[in-house]
Amino acid sequence: NTETDFELIGRPEVLPMYRPRLKFSHKGNYGHSVIVGGSYGKIGAVQLAASACLSVGSGLVTAFIPKCGYNSLQTAIPEVMVLTGSREKNISGIEIPFEPSVIGVGVGIGQDDDTVSAFGAFLKKMGSPMVIDADGLNILSQNPEMLRDVPELSVLTPHPKELERLIGHWSSDFEKLEKAKIFAAQYNLIVVIKGAHTVTLFNGKGYVNTTGNPGMATAGSGDVLTGMITGLIAQGYSSIEAAIFGVYLHGLAGDLATSSKGYEALKASIIVDYIGNAFSELF
Ligand code: AMP
Ligand code: MG
Repeated sequence: NTETDFELIGRPEVLPMYRPRLKFSHKGNYGHSVIVGGSYGKIGAVQLAASACLSVGSGLVTAFIPKCGYNSLQTAIPEVMVLTGSREKNISGIEIPFEPSVIGVGVGIGQDDDTVSAFGAFLKKMGSPMVIDADGLNILSQNPEMLRDVPELSVLTPHPKELERLIGHWSSDFEKLEKAKIFAAQYNLIVVIKGAHTVTLFNGKGYVNTTGNPGMATAGSGDVLTGMITGLIAQGYSSIEAAIFGVYLHGLAGDLATSSKGYEALKASIIVDYIGNAFSELF
């Protein structure tokens, strides 16, 4: 079947997904997210993802990073708990001493040989949907046998280069979407094709986002999205809802941020600052 059904995603489509915060609730109701990532010089990616994860409402957030990032992360975001692996600059084993609600993995993680094996072993242990981004995706492209171990209904968030490494070259947008759709179906995954109009592919259908702007073409912007989708799943959104709603909110936060900051000066951390405004804008 080469027909892909597309739906435009705007406010009316995401509003019914929204899960209101309940008066008599506590942080335990909103999940415990773990962000696994970082390497020497790329701890900022985890910082952005973890703070975005908190800002969409995850009850607790733990970051699992290499040792070198411990001080900076603890200093930058007091709300985030930090676990470190045994090595200084890279992740060489992923041990999480509790049962997280969801894991977002890959931002800034690099492709050190030991990181690749740690990631492969970790996937085998995982049973529930996770969010995979950045070098997590590149590791999968280079080790396609690992794809079989990715839990079904996980969310993959490639930018165009990462997508090309996963599914190969395309010569038109149509071919890109068809190849990505087949890939998503083969492994029963949700594939978020990031760009000016991000398309989320799932179950033969494409959800086309309508928010966002070119100011968001900036370092760390995707790391923020990873944290947002992770934090939504932690709170009980299904992984497809979290992908669609997360992409919409991320774009909306970017749009609201540019109204005061303009396009050029928009930094990924400012997108995080506007996540709350994006939620308010929904109502
Ligand atoms: P990454 O390349 O991983 O940092 O991801 C970039 C993020 O910014 C994705 O969420 C993209 O959808 C978004 N983005 C990049 N360029 C644009 C653009 N021109 N218009 C809207 N969103 C964009
Ligand atoms: Mg990225």
